[in-house]
Amino acid sequence: MTAERRILQFGTNSIPYSLTYSARRHLRITVFPDRRVAVDAPKDRSLDDVERAVRKRSRWIARQRMRFEKYHPLPSPRRYVSGETHRYLGKQYRLRVRRGVPESVKLQGGFLWVVASDGSDTNRARRIVESWYDEHALDIFERRLKACHDRVKHQGIPLPCVSTRKMKTRWGSCRKNGSIVLNPLLIRLPIPCIDYLILHELCHLRVHNHGPSFYRLMDKCLPDWRERRERLNLTAVQS
Ligand SMILES: [Zn+2]
Repeated sequence: MTAERRILQFGTNSIPYSLTYSARRHLRITVFPDRRVAVDAPKDRSLDDVERAVRKRSRWIARQRMRFEKYHPLPSPRRYVSGETHRYLGKQYRLRVRRGVPESVKLQGGFLWVVASDGSDTNRARRIVESWYDEHALDIFERRLKACHDRVKHQGIPLPCVSTRKMKTRWGSCRKNGSIVLNPLLIRLPIPCIDYLILHELCHLRVHNHGPSFYRLMDKCLPDWRERRERLNLTAVQS
């Protein structure tokens, strides 16, 4: 079955969608997390009918696509007890907490070793690990920002400052003054996903919305961004 690629224009917006005809009874519209829109129509529907149906649900479609654009699931909260799985740059490590001084954090042999002055206090372990993550985060973000900026500098986008801030629902944002703020939790993701999120914010320095020109710019600067986003969503859910 081949899908026909179509675009519905409404106002200043447009919705690209793929249209497939099959032996079904009702028309079905699906919006996928990668923002693709698929329309499955019964064989006997005319193109006019299909367009009317898509137009009728255009607000819902636009809302779904916006939701998927802005929302990436963040990793679930941790309890900081031995045996728990933690991630660093996409790789999994098993947490081992023991009591001792000096306090330290180390990645070795698939384990995240934590020495805490009070080994039974999970809040202590949490603070030690989180500050260890934060320390590494800014350093890595600055290096990835430089690498990502190489992909966009020919677009006239200047190298911004980067800072970190804990955010409950977002991976990153960019400020009016042209700087980028990243969630330190990003450090748990694989580098290709970190790069995708940095590139996304870099492109916002040129195009502030999520309109077609934003995606054209993303396509130019990071042609495989859709796969990276898919991976990001999968990783975040599993982690
Ligand atoms: Zn955005």
